[in-house]
Amino acid sequence: MRDVLSVCTYCGCGCGLYLHVENNQVVGASPSRNHPVSRNNLCVKGWHVHEFIHSPDRLSDPLVRKDGRLVPVSWNEALDVAAAGLKGVKERYGPDRIGVLSSAKCSNEENYILQKFTRAVLGTNNIDHCARL
Ligand code: SF4
Repeated sequence: MRDVLSVCTYCGCGCGLYLHVENNQVVGASPSRNHPVSRNNLCVKGWHVHEFIHSPDRLSDPLVRKDGRLVPVSWNEALDVAAAGLKGVKERYGPDRIGVLSSAKCSNEENYILQKFTRAVLGTNNIDHCARL
């Protein structure tokens, strides 16, 4: 087993941790003693951060509902469906009927792009972030 120094991806605190890797599988996590933010601590999410990596429940493809069932599609098809849906709602009901939720798992730059897209392209200020939950 080897330990790989990394950063928890669950929220914006960015706690430092070691991922324990065995046979190319991440099998555990523990806090980094010297990390300046977390200083040898992790919350319960950080202790279990490794569990989603190899989970069979993890989404590996975008899904689109067809005939009442979610089916895997290409990213191009998923983006076309999402764009058509957002455009349709905006045209029929106005931009303030759309709300966008961003994520602490994204980088600052990705969150910036999403709020810019929401305000400048969708035309609404309805954007929030999971760190406020
Ligand atoms: S260990 Fe907890 S507080 Fe630290 S980054 Fe992960 S989720 Fe956030």
